[in-house]
Parts: sequence; C-alpha cells; structure tokens
Amino acid sequence: MTVFSTHYSPLHHFTTHYSPPHRMVVTIIGIGLIGGSLALSLKEAGLAHHIIGVDRSPEHQRQAVALGLIDEPETDLAAAVRRADLVVVAVPMDAMLTVLPQVLDAATDRQVVIDVGSTKAALLARVDQHPQRDRFVAVHPMAGTEYSGPLAAVPGLFRGKTLVVCDAARSANDALARVEAVFGRLAMQLVYMDAAAHDLHTAYISHISHITSFALALTVLEKEKEEQQIFALASGGFESTVRLAKSSPDMWVPIFRQNRVNVLDVLDEHIHQLQYLRHLLAQEDYSALHQQIQQANLIKKMLK
Ligand code: NAP
Repeated sequence: MTVFSTHYSPLHHFTTHYSPPHRMVVTIIGIGLIGGSLALSLKEAGLAHHIIGVDRSPEHQRQAVALGLIDEPETDLAAAVRRADLVVVAVPMDAMLTVLPQVLDAATDRQVVIDVGSTKAALLARVDQHPQRDRFVAVHPMAGTEYSGPLAAVPGLFRGKTLVVCDAARSANDALARVEAVFGRLAMQLVYMDAAAHDLHTAYISHISHITSFALALTVLEKEKEEQQIFALASGGFESTVRLAKSSPDMWVPIFRQNRVNVLDVLDEHIHQLQYLRHLLAQEDYSALHQQIQQANLIKKMLK
C-alpha cells in the first residue's frame, strides 16, 4: 500500500501580492474550457489588452470570437507566438507533447510560455533539452469542470484556487516572475513542486476521482438499462459522485496514459478498499463496516 498525503508538499507556498505585469498581448493555443476561462480572467483583471486565439477547430475559433474570449483568431502558430508577451498552451495532453515544442521553437527571449496541463513529467522530459526551455514555466491550475470547449469557459474559474508551478528552477527568473505576477493578480495560491511529485499527488486527488466516476457511471448504466429510472431516482448523492463521468475521453485518456504508473498504483489501492468493504458486507460484519465509514469520515477534516 502506498503511503500518501492528500496535501501537496510544496517547496514553498505563499499568497503574497505581486506587482502587476503590464497589459499584455496574450496568445492562447486551445481555446476550450481552461484556455477560454483564462482569457476571461486575464481580460477581467486588466492583464491582457489583446488576445490571439489558435485552435485546431475552426468552429471553436468562431465561437471564441463570438463569446468575446479572444480578439483575433490566428492559424499561423509561429506568428501568433512571436506577437505575444505571454503564450498559454491549453490543448489536451497528447497534443501538448507536440504543440509545446513547436511553440518553444517559435519563441524568443521576449516571450513567456506556460502550459496548463494536468500531467507534467512526460511533458517536461519532452522539452528538457530545448534551447528555449527557460522561457517556459510549467503550471497546473487546480480548477475546472466536466465540460469542454469554448462554450464551457467561465469567468472567475481560478479565483481562490491553487496553481501548481513545476520545476520552477528550470525557468528564467523574469519568466517565473511574470507568471507569479499574473496568477497572483488572478488571486490564485501558488504551490511549487517537482513534476514527479505533481503527477503522484494529482493521481490521488484528481485522476482517481475521474476513473472511479467513470466506473460508477458504467456500473449504473450496466445495471439500470432503463435510463428513465436513473433520472427518476437520481438524487444529490448520485449526481455529485458521478458528475465527473461527463468528462471527455479526449481529455482523460491522454492524462491516464501519461500518468499510467501512478494511476495504476492508486487504482490498486482503491480496488483493495472496495474489495475490503465488499468483504465486510458479505460477512455481515457491520461493526467493522461502521469503523471503516468512521475512518472515511476523517476526510471532513481535510476538506473544508
Ligand atoms: P478543452 O475544453 O477540450 O479545450 C482544448 C481545446 O484545444 C479544444 O478546442 C481542442 O479542439 C483544441 N485542440 C486540440 N488539439 C489541438 C492542437 N493540436 N492545436 C490547437 N488546438 C487544439 O480542454 P480543457 O479542459 O480546456 O483542457 C485543456 C488543458 O488544460 C489540458 O491539457 C488539461 O489537461 C488541462 N486542464 C484541464 C482541466 C479540466 O478540468 N478540464 C483542469 C486543469 C487543467 P478539439 O475539441 O477540436 O480537439
């Protein structure tokens, strides 16, 4: 069994007020839930005066303009990078492995590049030797919903949430300072850790929740072939537990693939817990079952 903490282990961790960066030209690559929400937040905070949007989907580009997420759609990636002060790469994790190196190929010492990806070790290994590696700051906003695309963008998504900054020592000082200033202005709490620790902790607090939600949805769909009955009986408990199962496979398969070893480890522990609960119920050991649930209730102390 793996010993773990549901808390991050930051190298340092602070919420100081940073001096704001100048009003920037921002290029966002992948204008979906996270890219679009970041566009709204940067505009609202007065940090971006012009946002260029790059997306492989022309329909998403059109929607992003119509929704006011971006000021200008662009199809030439290198041109969009060179015109920006800040470049945000917000594509799914499989695309991230090819798009981020292309962005760094086009970047000069004027640009700061961030990703917002949910896994870090494979991505950071991919750009480890890139000549422009120090213009890149790896971040993961711990905020999101189960919806995708520009229509899913929401204002204020990041306010009060945690931003994990990974392998910060590999970024140039000015690049890191700009990123700290931007996300400090968005009222995020910055936490610093290395990529391996990030991937381990997110396997526990995010990736396992998604995989168990997918499994729960599949279980109920298999047992309850009469869809109408699910709707009729669905209550708050079921809805909140299964909410994440609405998340897109395009988003989650690449995350599970890139964090496979950690997710397998967490899944083994989770299956063990399920089997134990099953065993107690099969044996009618209600006293032990009571104890296990009491033990699970300790999560209340960790989550506000
Ligand atoms: P999303 O809503 O699906 O948006 C991603 C956008 O990128 C889509 O418009 C997609 O177009 C586009 N895209 C895909 N491949 C591309 C490429 N090669 N070049 C340009 N655009 C491309 O996804 P999201 O939820 O915002 O997630 C974006 C990133 O944030 C991911 O790396 C994810 O791990 C991370 N993240 C997600 C959450 C969350 O809760 N969802 C939270 C924190 C971080 P198509 O739809 O046509 O593919």
